[in-house]
This record gives sequence, structure tokens and C-alpha cells, in this order.
Amino acid sequence: MDLSFSKEDLAFRDEVREFLATSLPDDVKERFDRGLHATKEGQVRWQKILNEKGWLAPNWPKEYGGTGWTVTQKYIAAHEFGHASAPIALPFGVSMVGPVIYTFGNQEQKDYYLPRILNSDDWWCQGYSEPGSGSDLASLQTKAVRDGDDYIVNGQKIWTTFAQNADMIFCLVRTDSSVKQQEGISFLLIDMKTPGITVKPIIGLDKEHSLNEVFFEDVRVPVKNRIGEENKGWTYAKFLLGNERNGIARVARSKRQVERLHVIAKTERSGGRPLAEDPDFMNKLNRIEVDLMALEYTELRYLSMMSHGKNLSAEPSVLKIKGTEIQQRLTSLLVESLGMYGAPYEAEQNYEGRNEAQVGPDYGFGPMAEHLYLRAATIYGGSNEIQRNIISKMVLGL
Ligand SMILES: Cc1cc2nc3c(=O)[nH]c(=O)nc-3n(C[C@H](O)[C@H](O)[C@H](O)COP(=O)(O)OP(=O)(O)OC[C@H]3O[C@@H](n4cnc5c(N)ncnc54)[C@H](O)[C@@H]3O)c2cc1C
Repeated sequence: MDLSFSKEDLAFRDEVREFLATSLPDDVKERFDRGLHATKEGQVRWQKILNEKGWLAPNWPKEYGGTGWTVTQKYIAAHEFGHASAPIALPFGVSMVGPVIYTFGNQEQKDYYLPRILNSDDWWCQGYSEPGSGSDLASLQTKAVRDGDDYIVNGQKIWTTFAQNADMIFCLVRTDSSVKQQEGISFLLIDMKTPGITVKPIIGLDKEHSLNEVFFEDVRVPVKNRIGEENKGWTYAKFLLGNERNGIARVARSKRQVERLHVIAKTERSGGRPLAEDPDFMNKLNRIEVDLMALEYTELRYLSMMSHGKNLSAEPSVLKIKGTEIQQRLTSLLVESLGMYGAPYEAEQNYEGRNEAQVGPDYGFGPMAEHLYLRAATIYGGSNEIQRNIISKMVLGL
């Protein structure tokens, strides 16, 4: 296992640092640093800057607009982005449907959709989960019935992140109910402006609107919007889920949170002394740091395996479980570190134009929202219980 960086890698790291220092807009950085959801305008503006630099889609093959970075360079970039509080592209277009399109789509679909994803012309959302079909995704009920050159889609999706912003949704639909569940699913790309689609908000624990229900009532979708073959959608869906788990550990983001906690620990006081001198508090912080370091080295080991041509199997599940648990512990500790100022979270503070004074220190705005939102981190992207099932099957052979 070789975990050291070459001279070229270090030069690349400097280039990424320089780019982020000069190109990342302050407002985008600030929201990300505070753990708040990006605004649509800010996210699109930043994605366009990244695309101009040619860095929006590091994991895409070069022929479709990828960077051609080595695995090590991708790792370095991810860590520099985290350290600088720079958001990466939203996953739904670049990391989820994009790879499905260039791997399984036809030429016309590649020519049309891929440049639009890179240029952030379409905001995508993911229409997988349904009421009653989350972990047991293959039981999904949304139906697509063929009618000439169209499908007529009826049904409901749920937990659809940022559907309220979306121009397009990629959807798993049932096209055959007479066969084994997995063999009757197709993968459709649907324009959110199509008549018959209704988006209803779900307000999260963080009092924010990022989640939605999406209803389909006699929605006409051209057959040419189907990816690959009819009834083979499960294959494409699983391919996408594998990509979704990559990067979900967010090690660099957690390292940034640790830095933040050390700063706060020097300022906030408990029992008349700084938190940094409180053994109980520092014990919690140090334990997280040790676990985070172990996670980082685990990620590096997997990176080294991949750069030697080995395929990963259950490893992304390990990263997902440990990474999300650490994210939750960190945001809990951030809230704890703020004492009474951790509690008065008001979602309205996000609203532009609000000019009421912040209660407590400036760094107190954000952690509670992120803490509440990240309760979901052990659920989304495949719940951690399901990841444990995957590990028990693939590693332990149970
Ligand atoms: C914040 C957030 C954002 C999301 N965004 C999207 C999105 O954009 N698009 C989308 O399609 N979906 C999205 N989801 C949905 C997400 O994928 C599902 O919530 C997840 O797959 C779990 O499904 P479920 O909610 O139906 O829970 P269930 O599947 O009903 O599970 C309930 C509980 O039972 C456990 N469980 C279930 N089956 C097993 C088993 N076999 N063994 C052990 N334990 C089990 C689960 O781990 C969980 O704890 C999002 C969810 C959240 C919370």
C-alpha cells in the first residue's frame, strides 16, 4: 500500500488551493461552511464556475467532459474542497444520472443531456423512493403504461430532494407487474413541467424545505426518454446507487468541522473555563478525531486498492456507515459546544433580507440546522442497517 503523494500530486494540490482561494464566491462558501442548504442561484453560479474550469465532473470519462484526474488527484481535490468549504456539484445530475446516461443511454441522449448537466441547464432530482418502497425499493408501484410513442405515468414518489427546484426527474417506474419485481422496472427521464406532475413540500426537522412528495397523474413521457431497455431499469438503478454511496463519507467536511470545534472550544466557556480545558468535552472531541483519522486512512487504503486496479465491493458501505456516524457526532458536539446559543435555531434566519440581530456568536448560526438535518444521514443513500446487511453478505458471506 502506497499512501504518499508525489511531487506532481503536491503541485496539483497547490493548484486546487489557488483556484478555490480566488474563484469560490464568498456567499456560497459561507452557506456551505455553516452547513446550510445551498440556494439554487448560488449553487448554479458556482457550478458554472467549476464547469468553466473543467472541474465539475471529476468522475466522468474525459471524452464526456471529465477531468482525467488520477484517483489520487480526485482524493486531493475532494479534500481541498472540503477544507475550503467549497461545495461540489449537486449529486443528482453529475454523480447520479450523468453516469447512467453515458453508460447506458443512446447517442441522442448523451448528446442532449450530458452538456446540459455540465452547464447546469437542468436541475435534476431523484425519483426512486415511494411510500412503502425505500429500503425495499424494488417493490415500487409507480406505473408506466405504453400508449403509442409515450408512456402514461401514474403514482407517487417521496423524499424527493430539491424537486421544487428541478427541471428534470429521473424515475424508476413499473412497466411490467407480471414478472419478478426487479424484472419489471424501467428508468425514465421526465420533464418536471409535463402536465400532471404536482410537487408538495415536506418540511424537515430543520424547518427547511429540501424534501418533497411528487405526484404523477396521467403524465405523458415520450418513450425516447427511457434509458436502455424496457424492464431493465433495475440494472441501471443499482449502478446509480453504487455511485451515490461514493463520497457520502464526507471526510474532508468532517475535518473542517473538527477545526471549527477547536476554535469554538477556545472561546466558549463552561464552569468558568474554556471548553478546551474541559476534560469531558475534549475527550469527546478527541475520540471523534481518532475515529475520523481511522476513517480517512481506511478511505486512503481503498483509494490505493482502486489505483492498483482492484474493484471495491462492500467498502463503500463501510465508509458510508462510519462517515455518517461521525457527521452526526460532530454536529451534536457542535451544538453542545454552543451551550444555550446552540438552541435558538430559527429557519427564518435563512430568508434573504432578514436584518434582525443574530442571537449569540456568529458561529452559532448553522450548527443546529445541520445537526437536525444530518439525523437523516444514516437513512439516505441506503440506510446504515441496509449497509450492514450488505457487509454481512459480501464480507462475512451470511
Ligand atoms: C433527507 C433525505 C433525503 C432523501 N432524498 C431522496 C431523494 O432525493 N430521492 C429518493 O428517491 N429518495 C430519497 N430519500 C429516501 C431514502 O432513500 C429512504 O428514506 C431510505 O432508502 C429508507 O427508506 P424508507 O424511508 O422507506 O425506510 P424503510 O425502508 O421503511 O426503513 C425503516 C427502517 O427499517 C430499517 N430496515 C428496513 N429494511 C431492513 C432490513 N432488511 N434489515 C434491517 N433493517 C431494515 C431501515 O434501516 C430503517 O431504519 C431521502 C431520505 C432522506 C431522509
